Amino acid sequence: MEEVGTGLLDRLDAMQRVAASAPGGPLLIVAGPGTGKTRTLTHRMAYLCAELGVFPERCLAITFTRRAAAELKERLEALLGDVAEDITVGTFHSLGLTVLKENAKAAGLGSGWRIADEHEQTQAREQAGDDDAAYRKLLRQQDLVDLDDLISVPVSLLSEDPALVEKYRRRWQWIFVDEYQDVDELQYQLLRLLSPPDGNLCAIGDPDQAIYSFRGADVQYFLRFNTDFVDARLVRLTRNYRSSAPILAAAVQAIAPTTLVSGRRLDPARLDPEASLVGRYAARSVADEADFVVRTIDELVGGLSHRSLDSGRVDSRAAAVGNLSFSDIAVLYRTDAQSGPIVDALSRAGIPVQKRSHNRLRDRRGVAEIARELRHAGGASGPLRVRVKAAGQALAQRYAAPTLDGDQPAPEDVRLAAELLLPLADRTGDDLPLFLQQLATGAEVDALDPRAEAVNLLTLHAAKGLEFPVVFLVGCEDGLLPLRWPGSTPSEEEVAEERRLFFVGLTRAQDRLYVSSSAKRFRHGSEREQSPTPFLDVIDSGLFEKLGEAAPARPKDRQLRLL
Ligand code: ATP
Ligand code: MG
Repeated sequence: MEEVGTGLLDRLDAMQRVAASAPGGPLLIVAGPGTGKTRTLTHRMAYLCAELGVFPERCLAITFTRRAAAELKERLEALLGDVAEDITVGTFHSLGLTVLKENAKAAGLGSGWRIADEHEQTQAREQAGDDDAAYRKLLRQQDLVDLDDLISVPVSLLSEDPALVEKYRRRWQWIFVDEYQDVDELQYQLLRLLSPPDGNLCAIGDPDQAIYSFRGADVQYFLRFNTDFVDARLVRLTRNYRSSAPILAAAVQAIAPTTLVSGRRLDPARLDPEASLVGRYAARSVADEADFVVRTIDELVGGLSHRSLDSGRVDSRAAAVGNLSFSDIAVLYRTDAQSGPIVDALSRAGIPVQKRSHNRLRDRRGVAEIARELRHAGGASGPLRVRVKAAGQALAQRYAAPTLDGDQPAPEDVRLAAELLLPLADRTGDDLPLFLQQLATGAEVDALDPRAEAVNLLTLHAAKGLEFPVVFLVGCEDGLLPLRWPGSTPSEEEVAEERRLFFVGLTRAQDRLYVSSSAKRFRHGSEREQSPTPFLDVIDSGLFEKLGEAAPARPKDRQLRLL
């Protein structure tokens, strides 16, 4: 347990301390990447409980993912010890589930209600035609709810019952929401019911990292916080502890054209005069780009031939970076389909990789499909671990089809599908209902092991909130970032969101950042000429170091082999 009492806020900077020790009432903390949002939020909660006598059982902290909830809980335990156990920490879905469990009868659900699987949902949808009300009625007749119901049913229950609202407002008098820029309409409605307009609601986030509009998130709720909540206090955190000054300068310039934060600034806490510029590599092909990544990792980690087989950690030849291990390195990309050639090249060079993505298996539909497969797979009595594996394999086969944007599926995706879910199955033992519930109430499955000695491969969406000493942002090409479908022009708002995604990517890097593009790429069924993303054009060229001329073309472009 860390120091409690007078020293609690000592580890915060001046503005973080202002945010952490602000009095009750609505509080909006607008904080850029790397400014210590989680640190500030946990210290605020700890300070309120340890110093101001707020009861931990009156506190509710809400995040979007299980990973974020677990991290918050862990950090609270470090600050408060056992007291942290009394604080409710969860995702929006787990909060909805709690409210629903406590009011199942009022919601018209019988004692055996549960979350419907995909098959049951499809059946109900087909029967109901296009009529969503009729669809829900059918589910309800079978005592089933779907994932949207986990939020919408509590919202309707609370909207119709002021006494119930009072009950929850008394229970959770202090509410904290992380990544507030990502709330969608139903989550927002739930929050407005749980918190009175002058309530102790503390929301923290960064509008410039709002990247989930495709699943209904709306950054407008963040931007209008001070009209929704009375006398809201605003605190800004602008001191960035994560990135070197050149990386930060590039990121701030990249977001500037469409920033949602007036007077956006990020001040580097790190002022290393030796800091590297942003490496920029223009590859002639996708294979060349992948080779560039391998070559550079090889240089950074000190030469593959010299690598210790025990740990992968070796003395780096690059003194400015220090001791680097593979897990310090991340390769980020816009679409999952890009990962194939990179995984191939790294694996051929003997570099271990681990991959995480928001793929189809991890969206809500995927969860329901897994639930259904699990009921069939491996025999009803088999151990959960075995059944999860069998279900993963069945799904992998089903998904061995072209990806959404018409690209070939990455072989890695198919393998990953077969491996999905297992760590969670380990944690939940043989408890299938618990496993499904955990799967359903988290927005993603955690497949990234921070201790694994492997280079991390992630989509930009999956990289949100993480940081790595070395980051490669590959495929910085027009049409890929911003992403464009053939025959359609993205709206201004869509391009702005893609730019925010680019900003999220750049700001994951601590010491070294590499951006690369390929002159051609196989997309939408044919090989296309690609040009670098216009997002790079707004960055001062003095912040880049142009890296080596592209290696001579190979006789046969490896990418074509995927055909
Ligand atoms: P993002 O928007 O990218 O999720 P964040 O605001 O959540 O960023 P954190 O990940 O909480 O940022 O913090 C970034 C880094 O800065 C972490 O390594 C954290 O430990 C460090 N940090 C935060 N505040 C301080 C501080 N006051 N002193 C030293 N280091 C700090
Ligand atoms: Mg964060």
